[in-house]
Amino acid sequence: MAGEQEDQFNAFITRCTTDRDKSDRQRTGRLAGQYIAVKDNITTSGIMTTCGSAILNGYIPPYDAHVITKIVNEGAIIAGKTNMDEFGMGTTTENSAFGPTRNPVNPERVPGGSSGGSAAAVAAGLVPMALGTDTGGSIRCPASFCGIVGLKPTYSRVSRYGLIAYANSLEQIGPMARTVTGVSDLMQVIAGYDSRDATSTDHPYHHTPSADISGKRIGVPEEFFGTGVDAHVAETVRKAIDRLEAGGAEIVPCSMKSMAYALAAYYVICTSEASSNLARYDGVRYGVPVDTTPQWHDAFRAVRGERFGPEVQRRILLGTFALSAGYYGKYYAKAQIARQQVRADFDRLFQEVDLLAGPTMPTVAFRLGEMADPLSMYLADILTVPANLAGVPAISVPCGTVDGMPVGLQVMGRPFDDEGVVDAAYAYE
Ligand code: GLN
Repeated sequence: MAGEQEDQFNAFITRCTTDRDKSDRQRTGRLAGQYIAVKDNITTSGIMTTCGSAILNGYIPPYDAHVITKIVNEGAIIAGKTNMDEFGMGTTTENSAFGPTRNPVNPERVPGGSSGGSAAAVAAGLVPMALGTDTGGSIRCPASFCGIVGLKPTYSRVSRYGLIAYANSLEQIGPMARTVTGVSDLMQVIAGYDSRDATSTDHPYHHTPSADISGKRIGVPEEFFGTGVDAHVAETVRKAIDRLEAGGAEIVPCSMKSMAYALAAYYVICTSEASSNLARYDGVRYGVPVDTTPQWHDAFRAVRGERFGPEVQRRILLGTFALSAGYYGKYYAKAQIARQQVRADFDRLFQEVDLLAGPTMPTVAFRLGEMADPLSMYLADILTVPANLAGVPAISVPCGTVDGMPVGLQVMGRPFDDEGVVDAAYAYE
């Protein structure tokens, strides 16, 4: 690679100096000889997988995630495991037990998160492609902040087997690359049915990007340019949408009222699922074992108190509260209703338009340390979480800069029209 270049932005938690999958036979396949960086919440047999957490430091999985089997079978070489917000919880890659990743465009800024290491590795030129995961924007946000392309596939299109769960009903593994073609190439390899993921559907992706978007109807909900969206970012994205119009698309102003509840619903659902998923980390089963000679509950409390970072502890508490007997109806059940409304809004809009477009993030990359307040950090996810709540495909493609920092154009599509969002991004690129 890649292998010899210095990792000056702390993009990797683990770098693979030897090729685990080296065999005597010549590499063949669609990714032959390509180095791919892998987010550290995707299991890799024999290679440490930490989720950016001290609680999994030293954990070496005995098996490969489905996507790993796929890329290796196509001749790819695992370049290493990339830094991330602990368990995917964050928007900056500062919530990592392995220190923050820096943005290669400007190291005083964050790369976005939670797949910030994957984005930085691509943006810094250490690898041409990377795998990220997106629960509420974690592929698209860092793609936007680092000036690369990232796709969150339609829910169920890429197997989650071997993805260490944060919030199962929201998340997908997806491709990140410098170009739309790179993203599309990697998507070809990772998409398709897998019996080991109960939510997997049989929708392989065989597609070559086409820049022909003439006649496509692209909806632009006014809420995508609502409060909190930086005026310069908005202007840059509007110009990008004008270019899609010049390319033959029809631009349709519209409205998505459920945006008012999307963020709140997302944070109730993701913390609820996380509180359940993270119950398995007890210091005994994974990572460096703890001394269990004292009372088990004392050991359990100590290890979770010490090895989970503050944001993870906050979310476990929030999720446990939302799911507790007295409050379940008030929070979790309501969040599910709001989620249905978001889904219904997308369904309604997609009867009138083929795609939706707007900014990926309300601002450009923050400065390191700027997002110290968790609530302001959550607000930054407003434009990315709707696609996860509804399971629809969404891509971020670079569309200009503000203050020298990249801005991302986000395009969303109907479920299983990942091809359509790729084409719109390609037409823009
Ligand atoms: N920033 C969002 C969160 O913290 C999204 C994270 C993600 O997609 N993994 O939940």
